[in-house]
Amino acid sequence: MPRPVALLGVPFDAESSFERGPALAPAAIRAALRRESSNTSTEGGLDVADPGVLNDAGDLDFTGLDPAAIRARIEAGVAEVLDSGSTPLVLGGDHSITYPVLRAVARRIPNLNILHFDAHADLYDSFEGGRFSHACPFARIMEEQLATRLVQVGIRTLSRHQRDQAERFGVEVHEMRRWTGPRDLSFEGPLYISLDIDVLDPAFAPGISHPEPGGLSVREVLAVIQRVTAERFVGADVVEFNPVNDSSPRTGLVAAKFVKELTERLSQGAI
Ligand code: MN
Ligand code: MN
Repeated sequence: MPRPVALLGVPFDAESSFERGPALAPAAIRAALRRESSNTSTEGGLDVADPGVLNDAGDLDFTGLDPAAIRARIEAGVAEVLDSGSTPLVLGGDHSITYPVLRAVARRIPNLNILHFDAHADLYDSFEGGRFSHACPFARIMEEQLATRLVQVGIRTLSRHQRDQAERFGVEVHEMRRWTGPRDLSFEGPLYISLDIDVLDPAFAPGISHPEPGGLSVREVLAVIQRVTAERFVGADVVEFNPVNDSSPRTGLVAAKFVKELTERLSQGAI
């Protein structure tokens, strides 16, 4: 039996530097998954509605918690999913959530690799005075050595500071300016996939907070997800979808499509 995948909603966007809205994403992605304009099959033929394939672990509740307690709650929520024998597929939320998520994953799964899709490297040491901003998660992750290898795809906003940070942490950055088509990526150990929706060209996904022209198509992101190879797939997140800026359900449907295709890869987790 494949390992079940658990959808875990993290409705949190208080570490966003520009606009709020991603806290509304988990509910919007679930609605898009249920929308009758499409079916529940992946392109490879896995029906995510089949029993035991994709379970819903609900949303985390942050009522009354301060930022440090919220991070601890996220880490504990992901730990609970892993300890129950499921593979977490986390619905953000802004990208700051990936740091506490990875703390839970890395504590249980050593030698972790990360494949990170994003327009932005999110490697700032601090941003507007905050070290836990959604511009910083991968600096915290690499400082704490939560990953042995970080590969970034879709990057097109590298400042000098972030280039220095990428070099300091040994990050492998596939910049859009050199992009010639989907890459077949390969990882030796376990793989976690972090997917910031703004990796897409805003033409494909207007429902985001930081539109950055010159990005990937939906098809190119799917190609990388479908072709990447790893020893096993141990978790994923879909972050930064901002329903406030989604004038039609378009971006929600894109996020739901990614959730389905990621579910297929995560279902291959127990090899
Ligand atoms: Mn990001
Ligand atoms: Mn981004």
